[in-house]
Amino acid sequence: MRISDILRVKGEQVVTVPPDTPVEGLLTVLAQHRIGAVVVSRDGSVVDGIVSERDIVRALAARGAGVLTEAVSAIQTTQVRTVTPEAQLEDVERLMTERRFRHVPVVVDGALRGVVSIGDVVKNRIDELETERSTLADYITGERT
Ligand code: AMP
Repeated sequence: MRISDILRVKGEQVVTVPPDTPVEGLLTVLAQHRIGAVVVSRDGSVVDGIVSERDIVRALAARGAGVLTEAVSAIQTTQVRTVTPEAQLEDVERLMTERRFRHVPVVVDGALRGVVSIGDVVKNRIDELETERSTLADYITGERT
């Protein structure tokens, strides 16, 4: 399965925030959208960074509550790993496992086209396994009758 197959079902919408968004504003965005990470983008299309719950927790632990008034750019990850829609789901799974992150932006010609989360990966893996299981069950049942 390709990443484009996932985006076709899930859609291409990505929640982004500008780099100068205060961290407390980021909390509101994460809570409102019920998500764990946002792409940081100055124009809603170029990926300038990514910032997740983990970055907030780490910054709070290191610097205290003053972090809440800092800009998102102070806690973001700037070396963002992205994929294209042609990428295979299992390669993205491997990337997430090896690099220990749960979000991967999908980019085409420098423009944001979607985001894949670990939740999307797990859901699609379960769907694949279920299809395989029922195909095998049908095969076995068919052979027996
Ligand atoms: P996550 O597991 O996605 O909440 O992120 C864990 C850490 O990896 C955080 O420091 C994120 O900023 C960072 N991170 C998340 N996604 C990516 C990505 N696609 N490329 C690089 N770093 C990322």
